[in-house]
Amino acid sequence: MSVDPLKVMLPKPWQEMDFFKKLEGLEGVPVINLHLWFDRKLSDIDQLLFSRSPLLSVYADMSNTCKEYANPDRSMLELVLAPAQDWIGKSEEEILAATMAELEKLFPMHFGGDNPAKLLKYRVVKTPRSVYKATPGRQACRPSQKTPIANFYLAGSYTMQEFLGSMEGAVFSGKLAANAIARDYSPKIVSDAQAPEETQLAIG
Ligand SMILES: Cc1cc2nc3c(=O)[nH]c(=O)nc-3n(C[C@H](O)[C@H](O)[C@H](O)COP(=O)(O)OP(=O)(O)OC[C@H]3O[C@@H](n4cnc5c(N)ncnc54)[C@H](O)[C@@H]3O)c2cc1C
Repeated sequence: MSVDPLKVMLPKPWQEMDFFKKLEGLEGVPVINLHLWFDRKLSDIDQLLFSRSPLLSVYADMSNTCKEYANPDRSMLELVLAPAQDWIGKSEEEILAATMAELEKLFPMHFGGDNPAKLLKYRVVKTPRSVYKATPGRQACRPSQKTPIANFYLAGSYTMQEFLGSMEGAVFSGKLAANAIARDYSPKIVSDAQAPEETQLAIG
């Protein structure tokens, strides 16, 4: 799980241990996702896009990028509204209105004129604590996958691996956690010769 729920779920005596105390230095940032279904095609681009909008960081037209949402006639946009600090407490209607105003700038050909694109349905997903805020000094707060508690290992993009919080980091952290468990519980199988440095194993 991500670092914020972990912090509140740790048993009290563990919270007092230096290893877990440093987790207090990692704090998730708020992020908002918008899922918007339109009555027509807005784009035929089949990849994630960085937007020119200061409000909407990245988006994808899921009707092109994702077979579960595939539709040759109607777009379904998924957009990330970030940084969301000033928006997370606002109503869905306010967030939607601000998003639509940005979309009018991004897609003037579809939202202007006599027959503008219509929003058929929407979903606003608020994540008050997402990936940890990567400010200077955060590296020192990231824990290893192996903990001082026997039989208790951590995986998650916030744990120590070579990337910041990211999908790649999440995968690497899982490999490092599996490697730590293998080292602890299968010493004969995972000998030094078979298990190179943890990072090398994670990449391979
Ligand atoms: C809007 C947004 C856009 C992003 N875009 C990108 C991107 O473009 N590229 C990129 O590389 N990264 C991106 N990231 C970051 C990336 O998604 C994360 O770094 C990654 O998903 C972290 O993976 P994880 O497995 O560590 O944690 P998560 O994916 O957060 O998984 C933790 C899991 O734990 C579960 N959980 C929480 N509490 C409990 C509990 N009490 N009991 C049981 N389960 C629990 C949660 O439901 C969740 O499934 C984005 C993140 C957000 C929020």
